[in-house]
Amino acid sequence: MTPDRRMFLSASVGATAAAASLTSGSLIPVRADQGGELALEGSFSCHPRLRAAVAEDFGGLIHKQPAAVSRPASSADIVRLMQWAKNRGLKVAARGQGHSIYGRAQTEGGVVIDMSAIGAIRHVGPDRVVVDAGAAWSSVLEVTLAQGLTPPVLTNYLGLSVGGTIAVGGIGAASSRQGMQTDQIIELDVVTGEGKQLTCSAASNPDLFDGVRAGLGQCGIVTGATLRLARAPERVRRYQLFYPDLASLMADQRRVLADQRFDQLQGAVLPDGKGGWRYQLEAAVSYDRDAAPDDKAVLSALSDDRGAAVIADLSYREDALAFAKFEALLRSKGQWFNPQPWLLTFLRGSNAQQVAGEILARLTNDDIGPFGRITYYPLFTRAFHTPLVRVPDEDIIFPFNVVRIPPSKDPATMELMVAQNRLLYDLIRKAGGVLYPVSAFPMSRYDWKDHYGPSWSRLDEAKRRYDPGNLLTPGYNLF
Ligand SMILES: Cc1cc2nc3c(=O)[nH]c(=O)nc-3n(C[C@H](O)[C@H](O)[C@H](O)COP(=O)(O)OP(=O)(O)OC[C@H]3O[C@@H](n4cnc5c(N)ncnc54)[C@H](O)[C@@H]3O)c2cc1C
Repeated sequence: MTPDRRMFLSASVGATAAAASLTSGSLIPVRADQGGELALEGSFSCHPRLRAAVAEDFGGLIHKQPAAVSRPASSADIVRLMQWAKNRGLKVAARGQGHSIYGRAQTEGGVVIDMSAIGAIRHVGPDRVVVDAGAAWSSVLEVTLAQGLTPPVLTNYLGLSVGGTIAVGGIGAASSRQGMQTDQIIELDVVTGEGKQLTCSAASNPDLFDGVRAGLGQCGIVTGATLRLARAPERVRRYQLFYPDLASLMADQRRVLADQRFDQLQGAVLPDGKGGWRYQLEAAVSYDRDAAPDDKAVLSALSDDRGAAVIADLSYREDALAFAKFEALLRSKGQWFNPQPWLLTFLRGSNAQQVAGEILARLTNDDIGPFGRITYYPLFTRAFHTPLVRVPDEDIIFPFNVVRIPPSKDPATMELMVAQNRLLYDLIRKAGGVLYPVSAFPMSRYDWKDHYGPSWSRLDEAKRRYDPGNLLTPGYNLF
């Protein structure tokens, strides 16, 4: 017997036994002759501890228990799993790093595929990197930085998986110039809901490419990605500037956006602990060692409270990983594991000040929590090209992200916050704003149709073609 055959048989015995316990248990009543044998190189388990671990996510608000969890060894395993699930009509959800806010990588009674099991960085070239979709962005950056290269758009937090941010878009401080992470993809390997493995790009299977990028996991499981790379600057000078009110913050944000003096631009409205708000512009200039920026020139003609300004000089790597310090702080305070009922949206540039002002007048410090914030800054939409990324149809928009980090775990408070998210979303939508689909409140199919607007037919057609059994990623409640 060849080693391969032996490995196949031993793996298949384990997986078949697991499948038998799955099918004979009370969770999923299916006939034993349905689907045939499941033979995987990786693992497949119905163990209650493993199922419980993926019945949670970062948001801590939704809990759905799958019938089984698989840790695939390869994309071929995902093909086999998908075909097996299809024959049984079982729902399947890929789970990257589990940082969904509202159960989007969960499935009640279906199968969760733990994508962190396939997270290799396969190849780094002069302008691209080939990765497994379960890789965390932090791993991608570590490997590319060793070659002096970086993905052009990094999310603020790098503990997210490549597949997880491809599902939603992936926005970062460089998005004004470089678009979303989904705008920086050259090619994807995908296993469809039919269990077929396909490669897609702008030139090959473009409907799948467009259906998968920011398609909320509806058309396929991304197993591998070829991502663009750019030269990494050596250093970053970061500026935190403070303002007395929203109007003066926005005036300077608009000024620096227009003259493009910063390579990264963000900002936030922070609880001041006394019931009011602090207004912060956060921006950065990238440079190489021999060309440090002149702070006076960089900050010229800005109206911030200069005495309060914080200027820090960091390596590019330190800057990219800065969120890890905040994570460590929240972990040390026990707040990383509290429920996180976030609401992430985009406002139209033309009425952002009025809408943001109205919402800030309604929110209290307690609604956000002492460590929470409302991320708020302008960006250009001209680099946004991913068809399923939805933003207001204006040249300048403002992310308005209510990042609630409530100190309490009280279920009644969480329920109120989730309900408030819905009210705020309705207000924002009426004012021409759009949801970033990483938010904590239930969305109906009608809501999603409304969200996608003219792009709905593109997603609907891709879904019918690539996941006609509607098995994939039930957590969004789209189909
Ligand atoms: C602390 C924190 C900071 C964040 N910062 C940012 C930020 O700066 N910018 C930003 O854009 N977003 C940010 N997000 C949101 C984040 O991008 C999304 O929640 C993302 O989907 C999480 O990725 P994950 O790997 O943890 O995904 P999971 O929760 O594991 O999955 C998210 C969704 O993607 C699907 N999915 C996962 N892997 C695959 C795959 N391989 N193929 C198909 N579908 C897949 C899942 O089924 C699920 O629907 C942040 C979230 C947190 C909690």
